[in-house]
Amino acid sequence: MAASILTHNLGFPRIGRDRELKWALEAYWRGAIDGAELEHRGRELRRRHWQLQAAAGLDLIPAGDFSWYDQVLDLTTMLGAIPPRFNWDGGTVDFDLYFALARGRAPGRDPVTACALTKWFDTNYHHLVPELTAGQPFRLANTRLLDEVAEARALGFAVKPVLVGPLTWLWLARSAEARGDQRLQWLPEVVAVYGQVLARLAALGVDWVQLDEPALALDLSPAWRDGLRTAYGALAGGGPAILLATYFGRLGEQLEAACTLPVGGLHLDGVRGGELEAAATLLPAGRVLSVGVIDGRNIWRTDLGATLARLQNLRTRHRGPLWLAPSCSLLHVPVDVAGDARLPESIRPWLAFATQKLDELAILRSALDNGEQRVAAALDEARAAFADRRRSPQVHRPVVAARLAALTQADERRRSARAERAALQRQRVALPMFPTTTIGSFPQTEAIRRARGRWRSGELGDAAYEDFLREEIATAIREQEALGLDVLVHGEAERNDMVEYFGEQLDGFAFSGNGWVQSYGSRCVKPPIIYGDVARPGPMTVAWIRYAQGLTDKPVKGMLTGPVTLLNWSFVRDDQPRAITCLQLALAIRDEVRDLEAAGVGIIQIDEAALREGLPLRQADRAAYLDWAVRAFRIAASGVADDTQIHTHMCYSDFNDIIAAVAAMDADVTTIESARSDGRLLDAFRDFDFPGDIGPGVYDIHSPNVPQPAELLDRLRAMRTRIPAERLWVNPDCGLKTRTWDEVRPALAAMVAAARALRAASA
Ligand code: GLN
Ligand code: ZN
Repeated sequence: MAASILTHNLGFPRIGRDRELKWALEAYWRGAIDGAELEHRGRELRRRHWQLQAAAGLDLIPAGDFSWYDQVLDLTTMLGAIPPRFNWDGGTVDFDLYFALARGRAPGRDPVTACALTKWFDTNYHHLVPELTAGQPFRLANTRLLDEVAEARALGFAVKPVLVGPLTWLWLARSAEARGDQRLQWLPEVVAVYGQVLARLAALGVDWVQLDEPALALDLSPAWRDGLRTAYGALAGGGPAILLATYFGRLGEQLEAACTLPVGGLHLDGVRGGELEAAATLLPAGRVLSVGVIDGRNIWRTDLGATLARLQNLRTRHRGPLWLAPSCSLLHVPVDVAGDARLPESIRPWLAFATQKLDELAILRSALDNGEQRVAAALDEARAAFADRRRSPQVHRPVVAARLAALTQADERRRSARAERAALQRQRVALPMFPTTTIGSFPQTEAIRRARGRWRSGELGDAAYEDFLREEIATAIREQEALGLDVLVHGEAERNDMVEYFGEQLDGFAFSGNGWVQSYGSRCVKPPIIYGDVARPGPMTVAWIRYAQGLTDKPVKGMLTGPVTLLNWSFVRDDQPRAITCLQLALAIRDEVRDLEAAGVGIIQIDEAALREGLPLRQADRAAYLDWAVRAFRIAASGVADDTQIHTHMCYSDFNDIIAAVAAMDADVTTIESARSDGRLLDAFRDFDFPGDIGPGVYDIHSPNVPQPAELLDRLRAMRTRIPAERLWVNPDCGLKTRTWDEVRPALAAMVAAARALRAASA
């Protein structure tokens, strides 16, 4: 008889079912509640989440997955790695210091530059970047984790503390003095502090501690693999048993090293990484193998039948205890499907948010321990839901499959080469040199949000809401004419969000009412759910653009979200490759592009803000992704005549490593964020002969500061040295929806003035 199976969780969504943590934090930052009240609300959330997980039957419940802002920042403060500009006195890390690090401001401190924020691997969660300087001291400076473990134990929960591991923390750190492998110089000191933490946890009676090392799913140099061995060699043996947790991808050349470390056990991501079977063979006898078989990155109910078969097999192969868990922390999924009024009834049984995923673990464990007949009802229900989803006509639309099958190479190609198109486009729409434009959105004012809210709640009728929107569009057009911009936009007043707006009008998308996922700090996103074949029942934007065009003699750009961005900012179906879903989205957008063209729109922008975000973690997987992503864009964009000008927009400065793929998208005009890239973007244009027109953003829309014409002119002159005059556009970095009109008017006036000055100088 095989040993009994343990279930555990790597982390629970800390934000709370109704975003309680968000509201508490924002109240504290506003000064509406004090630190004691904030502490109280945090304790309540932790207690509730521990309770919920214990009730779900988990054997090991995480502690330390709670955070006031970010788990990487928690570790940075635990190690005492506070950058000098925060004037740390070496005392306790209180809320003021902690929030100053996270946000640059805190109720009791002067403003200061916050730590940088960046994406946590390939998720949409953002962590704060540790900063290291030469001679950096490390010491145990924040005992929150220890306090929370004590708190849990006092409440009667036997918790497994969770913290980011030393290798991953160091990998995420940046230092002006030490790059790449050089950062490993700090590893021994960092590990020494971890050693102290483990000893203190052991003294609290902790048996197991989980150290998260997602960095093992990246391409690492041999030096980092050596670092892994040294670090865990030093940590093993003393304190609690270590569960080394990896996730987000396969370990590949790191697998053997991870399996042979002297730790208590290894957790692997069985959804994205596979390798469970290989690890079962590689792990020495007696080691724990924790298998992440429930998808922690997506919201679908698990195929319990197939998973059970896989687990039976693993159980016979593995010569030690088998633990069951989600693939990664449940931080990346919403809390609960139950009670969500907006989820369609027909879709709901197919979904599993964090709470449902814990139930799935319990069913799997029970089936393995006591036999499937003991949980027959639960298994049958799961199988029925799964089968229903597989067969549903809402999911499978033969027309969509037929269209995909009929795609030919001609569908991904414009009729003529870029230069010929450019000439025809110039004939159709006369523009000055250095044409000025914006990226699409104008301020989403309080009035717009209020009207949308009233319309959604039924208080405002469709006709009245449409009248209101037409007024807003007319205002945006008037403002742009007064500013003297060359290519106008309608301003996107009707859009709450660039993905949701389109998703709501496409078949195959569903929306939750409360499916929030933490993005950073108190900010959350509610990704749409793509559950079925995507199709476009009818035009989505044509009426608004046509109306806007009717108000002015200047050209108005059509404004669409591209297929790759629609995909990357949604929960995507797992029953077909992402590439297929992306092509379906591409066909829907292609139809919209053609309808806009038929309505007389000569310039159409297809935003691909999230193209880079989908880039796989491993270098070896990137070409394949870029291949289908570029193809999807081209299919969306290539259905038009040569004299229709296609724009695309991307907002990130890390453009250099994908520049060839962006060029292959074959847009006529590409606008890109550049103000925050310290000139790196312009270097890319020196090193790579980028085809087509380019609009590097001339000012940073994320800042409320209004740029001056002189500084913009300087920037344009610098761009002019890298980009031929006849191909240079003048535009901001990104959309203006987060700004106020009082900021936007002078900023755009300065931009237009700078463009005119450059024209005058070039004439
Ligand atoms: N057209 C969108 C806007 O202007 C683009 C937003 C984005 O790139 N994130 O808001
Ligand atoms: Zn942008």
